[in-house]
Amino acid sequence: MKVDNFEYFLVNDGTFKLDGGAMFGVVPKPVWQKYFISDEQNRITLGTNTLVIRSGKKIALVDLGMGDKYDQKLLSIYDIKREKNTIQRLEDLHIKTEDVTHVIFTHGHLDHTGWSTVNRNGLLVPTFPNAKYFLQDDTWDEIRNANEKTKPNYNFQNFVNLDNNLEIISGDEEVFPGVQLVKTGGHTKGHQIVISRVVNNTFVYFGDLIPTSAHIKPAYIMGYDLYPMDTFSQKKKLLEEAYEEQWNIIFEHDPNMPSAKLKDVERYSLERITV
Ligand SMILES: [Zn+2]
Repeated sequence: MKVDNFEYFLVNDGTFKLDGGAMFGVVPKPVWQKYFISDEQNRITLGTNTLVIRSGKKIALVDLGMGDKYDQKLLSIYDIKREKNTIQRLEDLHIKTEDVTHVIFTHGHLDHTGWSTVNRNGLLVPTFPNAKYFLQDDTWDEIRNANEKTKPNYNFQNFVNLDNNLEIISGDEEVFPGVQLVKTGGHTKGHQIVISRVVNNTFVYFGDLIPTSAHIKPAYIMGYDLYPMDTFSQKKKLLEEAYEEQWNIIFEHDPNMPSAKLKDVERYSLERITV
């Protein structure tokens, strides 16, 4: 979608699977089953939608899918399937890895930071050498101080040899005019979302605050969330605004409806849009 001198695209890194129960927390299976069909291991198929924002020479990517640094065991756990990966889909848009100026991480989990680094002849290097990688200081702390509960959610190879590219921020910040980072917490302490306002159009990338369209109701919170009541209050507040101003909402993990507008703020009904 083009708005003024801004262009918005979605690219994806294929699909992967996570436990359906963990994805929906206390929401009973008969309810979430209306949205997702689970496999014999109770896993559901999720998308990996990266938002691309281009304005002049600036190219920002929001979250970076699963990447390719997996051993056989992890490949079978996550059942990653793709026709093309994020890098190939960027090439389809004539975007080379050197062209990317900004990478934004909502948080550090492995399904959001996969293409952060690539393995070149046995050495991990930043995939986007000319980009600043933006993340919250609390996220950086969570990565470095991961414990028994949080460790399985990270692939630490995604943060090796990245020091020259890291831009660690504290709280809300404008990345460049039109692109705002808003710290929400909830899913993790350092979780942030991206709000892009140009003329009368607003795009919001909710990351894991609202991972799929099936999570639109404030009480539908993932079992993974470390601070679920913060997720709840942030969703309530932000969805009021999203409704009032008819924001274009991006759902990072939705394989079927990656973008929508909120049409009713009491029933939380959505209308599909194309970005
Ligand atoms: Zn996450």
